[in-house]
Amino acid sequence: MTKKKIGVIGAGIAGLSCAKELVSAGFDVTVFDKGRGVGGRMSHRHFENWGADHGAQYFTVKNPLFAKEAEIWLKENVIAPWQGRLAKIDNTVAEYQDEVIRYVGTPGMNAPAKYLAQGHKLHTSYTVTEIKRSQGYWSVVTKECGELEYAFDFMIFAIPSVQAKHLIDRYSTSLRDLCDSAKMLPCWTLMAYLKNPLSLNFDGAFVKNHMYSWIARDSDKPERSIYESWVAQASPEWSTEHVDIAPAEVELYLTEGFKDLTGCECDLYQTHLWRYARLETPQELNYSIDPHAKLAVCGDWLRNSTVEDAWLSGYYLGQGLSEVLR
Ligand SMILES: Cc1cc2nc3c(=O)[nH]c(=O)nc-3n(C[C@H](O)[C@H](O)[C@H](O)COP(=O)(O)OP(=O)(O)OC[C@H]3O[C@@H](n4cnc5c(N)ncnc54)[C@H](O)[C@@H]3O)c2cc1C
Repeated sequence: MTKKKIGVIGAGIAGLSCAKELVSAGFDVTVFDKGRGVGGRMSHRHFENWGADHGAQYFTVKNPLFAKEAEIWLKENVIAPWQGRLAKIDNTVAEYQDEVIRYVGTPGMNAPAKYLAQGHKLHTSYTVTEIKRSQGYWSVVTKECGELEYAFDFMIFAIPSVQAKHLIDRYSTSLRDLCDSAKMLPCWTLMAYLKNPLSLNFDGAFVKNHMYSWIARDSDKPERSIYESWVAQASPEWSTEHVDIAPAEVELYLTEGFKDLTGCECDLYQTHLWRYARLETPQELNYSIDPHAKLAVCGDWLRNSTVEDAWLSGYYLGQGLSEVLR
């Protein structure tokens, strides 16, 4: 019997955990991603001699299923605990301690995604612009190569809600309405390289009453560049207010804001706008399948914006769809 073919759009942690479950259940899975690499919002940017995680900063583990997966990642050396000194900044700086174990990818935040992607049929640098239905099968149209010669029995969207809606719109009212229900907020991010180490007594700080809400010494994380690099992430409120501002103008704000917090100018920097960074209101949906249209969605936006929630959403869809197609 020929294996059922499933197309997955999105090689972030949700798409990859879903693909893993489906392959284990015996399906023929092909994954597409518009990025040059995998990992989506779990990403790491390399520059000449420095680099930084500019999306997810670390992740925590609560769910037993995810704990099992994290154990594998630990054994495979693609994650490690990060024991950076933490602080809370609210006009003044106060030391912050808790019992939470914070994990980071090694040597970059995208390492677990790279690990999960091994052995999959994966096409990166393919932006899916449309899906087409013909004789009961789905094919995908890409920006780079037009319509590809695939005939999928089922299509999965493991991408942020706004992007999923754009592709699903004509084909499934229930999934389209679901996408509409999940509002995602932006995040302006600064990655900074400093010639001299900053003499601050913390490596990561939760910031209040400032344009930034998080700042971290990326080079403190395990297996990172020896050069002093920092990441600063603007709050959802500030990012929403400045989402359509010209890059040159926003760069000025971001670098000035960094100086205001640390007392230091960046020697080199890069900025990045995550237009769909985080979900506004957590949901308890896991995933959704439209069996009539043969389409399904997964991703952090169906639960909460954490690496753990995204992984779980993909995992549960993989399990759920295997049941439906059995
Ligand atoms: C700035 C920031 C900070 C964060 N901090 C943390 C943190 O500290 N801890 C934590 O646990 N979580 C954090 N998160 C959240 C976490 O990164 C996400 O919840 C999780 O990575 C989402 O995974 P996903 O697979 O659902 O989506 P994504 O990672 O967004 O994956 C979707 C993938 O789909 C691809 N794609 C989209 N559209 C198309 C298309 N049309 N065609 C082809 N490919 C497409 C994208 O390139 C991407 O690779 C943060 C996120 C951001 C942005």
